[in-house]
Amino acid sequence: MYEIDKIREDFPILSRTVYGKPLVYLDNGATTQKPRCVVETISEEYYSVNANVHRGVHFLSQQATNLHEASRETVRKFINARSTNEIIFTRGTTESINLVASSFVDSQMEEGDEVIVSVMEHHSNIVPWQLQASRKGIVLKIIPMNDRGELLLDEYEKLFSSRTRLVSVAHVSNVLGTINPVKQLIETAHSHGVPVLIDGAQSIPHMPVDVQQLDADFYVFSGHKVYGPTGVGVLYGKEEWLDKLPPYQGGGEMIQNVSFEKTTFNELPFKFEAGTPDYIGTTALAKALDYVSAIGMDQIAAYEHELTLYAMQRMKEIPGMRIFGEAEQKGGVISFLVGNIHHFDMGTLLDRLGIAVRTGHHCAEPLMRRLGIEGTVRASLGLYNTKEEIDLLVAGIERVSRMF
Ligand code: PMP
Repeated sequence: MYEIDKIREDFPILSRTVYGKPLVYLDNGATTQKPRCVVETISEEYYSVNANVHRGVHFLSQQATNLHEASRETVRKFINARSTNEIIFTRGTTESINLVASSFVDSQMEEGDEVIVSVMEHHSNIVPWQLQASRKGIVLKIIPMNDRGELLLDEYEKLFSSRTRLVSVAHVSNVLGTINPVKQLIETAHSHGVPVLIDGAQSIPHMPVDVQQLDADFYVFSGHKVYGPTGVGVLYGKEEWLDKLPPYQGGGEMIQNVSFEKTTFNELPFKFEAGTPDYIGTTALAKALDYVSAIGMDQIAAYEHELTLYAMQRMKEIPGMRIFGEAEQKGGVISFLVGNIHHFDMGTLLDRLGIAVRTGHHCAEPLMRRLGIEGTVRASLGLYNTKEEIDLLVAGIERVSRMF
């Protein structure tokens, strides 16, 4: 039983108004709203526990450390990693990918070696590789897609060569909503002896993820997209890989011994966590994961699937509607244009009706080029959205269309 009314009550912001209209928040792909328990966890820890972790003998420091490390265990369980050594706390998806790009390319790649990404990647899974490409002369290969927004698996297979060292792809596209067949992509890569990084920014909030079942080598996500706080995220890496990679940043926490002649590094996961971590953020992230787990990731996936089907069906009834991304396996991200109304005009006018959507290239300019457009309007769903809100969106789009 999915108790949507009760769930909505957990998110105070959902009952506010914008321009005198009830807020219809459909920008969950950018960031999600926070349930009361997550916000309260943050203030409670600041009010009653706050102390730097890992360093202190005193009571508060130990308590803060226990909370921080318990959060690591919560994350481990949430994605079914084998060990907490495999859970690295970062600032988010972007930092997690930059970490792997830097440490992996540094230690595992030579000039001329290749990384495979897909045409639908977010800039944060393109630019870190390009930075490495310009530093070390590595080469990017791109998996193409069909017009429905599905990756071409035959073409993918053909991209592998003796120089392929890593595949890095999104689990779910933040523009098209395509749920990529990552298990299959990983199997193919492994058959060539190549490890895979999965960008889980848009999957973690919407479906159960089991990194062992997927056999992902790296899996990354952001706390703020899964109803947790901003500024904290996760890099999951198989221990065998993380052991091989050099540290990303230097500083406190990540060392064992330091002298001016030689420094030895701390063990996993601390080797990759230089400096004071966002230990309040990690506790709040764990709270968010507990929150969605209590609802049930399967239940969330089923509810959002139904909502997506409803939204797709209703939106297609709108004259002049063009939807980008019609993959068979599609999550609740709906990018669209109507007639020749500019995406920015549509977004701005919907906003006046209290409807929050995103407009633009969604940090996926290569994908926009592939689609032959400059940008879209994007409605992205979360666990608290309703059919009534979809109806308001549809009515809003129709109203805006009539104005043009
Ligand atoms: N990858 C994808 C697929 C995303 O949707 C996003 C956020 N829009 C990111 C990476 C980057 O996430 P963050 O800004 O939280 O690091």
